[in-house]
Amino acid sequence: MPTSNDIENVVIIGSGPAGWTAAIYAARANLKPLVFPGRALTKDVVPGGQLMLTTDVENYPGFPEGVTGPEMMDLFCKQSLRFGTRVATDKGILDTLEHGLHTPCQEVTSVDLGTRPFVVNGDGGLTVRAHAVIISTGAKANWLGLENEQRLAQSGGGVSACAVCDGALPVFRGKELAVVGGGDSAVEEATYLTKFASTVYLIHRRDQLRASKIMQQRVFDSPKIEPLWNKVVTDVLGDKLITGIRLKDTTTGQETEKAVGGLFIAIGHTPITKFLNGQLEVNKKGYLVLADPYRSTTRIEGVFLAGDVADSVYRQAVTAAGMGCKAAIDAERWLAEKGLA
Ligand code: NAP
Repeated sequence: MPTSNDIENVVIIGSGPAGWTAAIYAARANLKPLVFPGRALTKDVVPGGQLMLTTDVENYPGFPEGVTGPEMMDLFCKQSLRFGTRVATDKGILDTLEHGLHTPCQEVTSVDLGTRPFVVNGDGGLTVRAHAVIISTGAKANWLGLENEQRLAQSGGGVSACAVCDGALPVFRGKELAVVGGGDSAVEEATYLTKFASTVYLIHRRDQLRASKIMQQRVFDSPKIEPLWNKVVTDVLGDKLITGIRLKDTTTGQETEKAVGGLFIAIGHTPITKFLNGQLEVNKKGYLVLADPYRSTTRIEGVFLAGDVADSVYRQAVTAAGMGCKAAIDAERWLAEKGLA
């Protein structure tokens, strides 16, 4: 794929609520932004972001009846295209997406922020130069890091980090399933799985959930969810398909086994920053650091941050969208100030 000779005004890396909102604002400012949405198969920078792995979004203002995550991201994407956003796809730079977020799109593999204009490299061979870059790559699901967890997750053996993506598969129907974690994601996944499972064990390493009160209530109200407090998973059992898990009690150290037909890991996320190769500062949790907490700026002029990749605290669709708006406005003002666009 040829390298473009033009210099982009602003390249937006990532396509969750932050990325598309930045694109809407930048497009309406006539900047013709170019979005690198990510690539579905890698599940690193998922096109549409983590909301593509979610069911109902009930807390995004403006949707009184709720909306599914993928539907909402599709609307965000369409809205940004309407104003002239362009997208880095496997067929080059397009300003319409016939298959929406299912269109094969490019993921950024590396950037050079030490030169001007900046250089952005996509995994489909597209290289562009850009005056400004907005980084909104989000964060991806964490795993426990057990050998058998990884083996069975990669072979489709009943271990997953996304109940919403995989929970409806026939292999999980009518089974006893386990979800690991104590946050909103774990509760959401456990609640979702009650549609298919006979029982869902919610395995948490402490005796109190981290999830919001309303989500916790769903656990306590559900006859199908059984919390297993003070437990960690130490091994995943089964050859081709999971048959059970080994648990360790965090207070007594006692080990037990539990037969389950599926294991879902919901223990948080890691911000996606590898492609930056250390060019921007991260905090101790690995999230990118803003130069000014009230702005979207970084220590490199012309590089702006938005969404979960720079937010270890709120990590909500609506806060990510707000950060996307700020990043686009900051980029627009900086480009104007420098006489670049
Ligand atoms: P989270 O809030 O960081 O919770 C992660 C959970 O996993 C914690 O309970 C943590 O235990 C546990 N954990 C972490 N590492 C572990 C390990 N190695 N072994 C066992 N357990 C481990 O992450 P999240 O649930 O993904 O939520 C992230 C953000 O998204 C939050 O702001 C949440 O509100 C938001 N969210 C909202 C919704 C919604 O509103 N519908 C749905 C999903 C997520 P400890 O509690 O002991 O630390």
